[in-house]
Amino acid sequence: MTNKEFADILLPNIDKTIEDYDKIYPKRNLEDGAIVTRYAPSPTGYVHMGALFSAFISSKMAKQTNGVFFLRIEDTDKKREVENGVSGIIRDLKNYGIKIDEGMISESEWIGEYGPYIQSKRKEIYQTFAKHLLINDLAYPCFCNEEDLENIRKEQESIKDRIGYYGKWAKDRYLSKEEVIKKIENGEKYVIRLKSPGKFENKIIYDDLVKGKLELPENDLDIIIIKGDGLPTYHFAHLVDDYLMRTTHIIRGDEWLSSVPIHLQLFQVFGFKPPKYAHIAPLLKEENGNRRKLSKRKDPEAAISYYHEKGIPTEAVLLYLCTVANSNFEMWYLQNKDKSIDDFKLEFKKISSSGSLFDVEKLLNISKNYISLLKADEVYNKTLEYAKNYDNELYELLTKYKDYSINVMNIEREQKKPRKDLAMFSDYKKENWYMYDELFINLEYNFDKINDLGEIKKIISFYISKYYDANDDKETWFNKIKLLSEELGYAKEVKEYKEHPDNYKGHVGDVSMVLRVCLTTKTMTPDLYEIMKLLGKERIEKRFEMI
Ligand code: GLU
Repeated sequence: MTNKEFADILLPNIDKTIEDYDKIYPKRNLEDGAIVTRYAPSPTGYVHMGALFSAFISSKMAKQTNGVFFLRIEDTDKKREVENGVSGIIRDLKNYGIKIDEGMISESEWIGEYGPYIQSKRKEIYQTFAKHLLINDLAYPCFCNEEDLENIRKEQESIKDRIGYYGKWAKDRYLSKEEVIKKIENGEKYVIRLKSPGKFENKIIYDDLVKGKLELPENDLDIIIIKGDGLPTYHFAHLVDDYLMRTTHIIRGDEWLSSVPIHLQLFQVFGFKPPKYAHIAPLLKEENGNRRKLSKRKDPEAAISYYHEKGIPTEAVLLYLCTVANSNFEMWYLQNKDKSIDDFKLEFKKISSSGSLFDVEKLLNISKNYISLLKADEVYNKTLEYAKNYDNELYELLTKYKDYSINVMNIEREQKKPRKDLAMFSDYKKENWYMYDELFINLEYNFDKINDLGEIKKIISFYISKYYDANDDKETWFNKIKLLSEELGYAKEVKEYKEHPDNYKGHVGDVSMVLRVCLTTKTMTPDLYEIMKLLGKERIEKRFEMI
């Protein structure tokens, strides 16, 4: 019996060849150096921060080289699947502005010429590639069940041999075609394994784009390529998909590093040129002076929903991820304020090979800067969007007082040193609640130097009756507070007070502090003149009456 006849018995429905698929998915016509890469998650319904980091790097690398970035869903492991698990991933990528050139755009649809971009729809393709190996005597069916494998393992343990299905231990490798056919006729279940040509004693040297030159033992395991359900294993699907999708770079978590010998061997047995690999170390978190992996279970900031729930702008998250990827980005961005991430050239060799720190505080700082540079109406729209999802009370206030709110957001904005009070849109209410009468309740006034109620009342009643005029410009407004101070025995200038403290009850700053606290309850606010202008006469009078 020829190998071809044998393979036809094993995979009778497969009549295409690798060459047929080569024609369907031709080499891409891209400029030299263009990176074709992908994000290849299981359909788990969401993206976590570590994965977003890799996806960001991948999409950026493709974009800056005029390459292709695609989304492929790896759903051959049915255990890891959740319902509508593709949509959540698409939503997360979209929210973060990570655009795909090809790949899944819904649970079942895709764009691009190299699809299907979901592995469960590619069964026939994988089997065609497996058949090729069978025909070339590079693969074989294996009938070992759990128990057989367990027995092999026990025997290996007892004589202290290396564990695994390889060499002389790979017993079904030595079955004759006739024996195989008999077993199949008896209805025995089987998988298809690679007949590994490797030797464990040999070393392979390969150059990882992030980790550098690595020496690893050659693979000699007869790994499973097609499982009992006819679907491929991760390793085999990687070979088939990334070959046919013409992927040039595999950018993935470094938990896959130890699989590189298997992957290179798979490319080798087919005679294909392997892609380049960049293995990204996990994001780290500092805790009590030690660094550990950022954990999906322990760290809320590892979930990207965290940023949405707090109203942390996705742009700020990306700016931070870019800094984490290439630390020189921070300086570059500072010196190129008018430019964006798109103008920055990300480099593989600047990515940390041992893992980068992910520090939320630093991210929030970046976010503060980012928000401070937005126009007031952008802040308004983004805060409104946040409030719509997470803060009904704020949503109603922002809708009811749209222009007023934009004006509040505009205080000390669009100037050389803009106000940096918002690290997230949820901070808006925390920082500006006193601008809304609806929230100006249950008050606790924090008077400072002047805290005698009689004196406070005197200051505000003199001010409102003799000095306050809603139409005053800033200079006039301040001069009037000076005059008020003088009338009540306070120094007009701080300097005067410092020179002769005994001559005064205090100074103009103390007097304006009284106004500030009466109107906002706080000692620290943005520009008081601006605040008063927005509050307006009626509100100011009402707030003074509340004292
Ligand atoms: N599906 C694999 C995962 O979930 C993808 C790894 C790769 O990018 O090759 O991690």
